[in-house]
Amino acid sequence: MWRLKLINSFGVLYFTVVSTLVFVNKISVWWFLLGGLLWIGMLTWGAFDIRLNVFVKAITSNKGETRKRIAITFDDGPTLFTPMVLELLHKYNAKATFFCIGNQVSKYPLILKQTFVEGHLIGNHTQTHTTRMGFLSADEVTQEIELGEQTIENVLGIRPMWYRPPFGVTNPKIANALSKTHYKIAGWNIRSLDTVIDREQRIFERLKRKIRPGGIILLHDTSNKSVNVLEQLLIELTNQHYEMVTLDELLNH
Ligand SMILES: [Zn+2]
Repeated sequence: MWRLKLINSFGVLYFTVVSTLVFVNKISVWWFLLGGLLWIGMLTWGAFDIRLNVFVKAITSNKGETRKRIAITFDDGPTLFTPMVLELLHKYNAKATFFCIGNQVSKYPLILKQTFVEGHLIGNHTQTHTTRMGFLSADEVTQEIELGEQTIENVLGIRPMWYRPPFGVTNPKIANALSKTHYKIAGWNIRSLDTVIDREQRIFERLKRKIRPGGIILLHDTSNKSVNVLEQLLIELTNQHYEMVTLDELLNH
């Protein structure tokens, strides 16, 4: 419920002022409708854009970082593309963070183990990554988080400390479920859109423009396209003398 209170306070203030002005016939009642639409608009935008921190306080970068350090994160694995990602990370001496889906971990436990053993950080990304995530009850969200955690713990013997909400979607129910957990919540400030954009070159150019110290890059270890973009990115970051680190390292945790 992080910035939600701020938005709601503005909303209450707005409606108080408008009510008064409407009451003394200074302005039209349409101002109520305008305010209502703006309010709903802001909450909807907040639900879909984790960077705004409307419902939960997610870590989207390390703003204080002055050294050339950046965190690459991969969502939705492990998959059969993950070993190729690991090979590239090894080749360019990079460490990364992987937000894993429980169901995928059950399919590829050995790939998860390999990822962990090679020094990368493992985060929880729910058990099923259902597209209905935004419509689940708080209890159902809790269950998704706990099952995902258990599946990872069963394979690695450690409990993940980072969580990333599927699709970056948050709302009061998800915030409520998360408030009862130990998790640090990860967002991003450099989105590749690698699952949306078709052309590898366009994805890479988009990322290149946004490279900054302290940044958190979002990629997916789910396609050949993303693997190819990753190699271009790692070459670019190496040329720019960046150090590619895990989220814990980026945040000095
Ligand atoms: Zn995801």
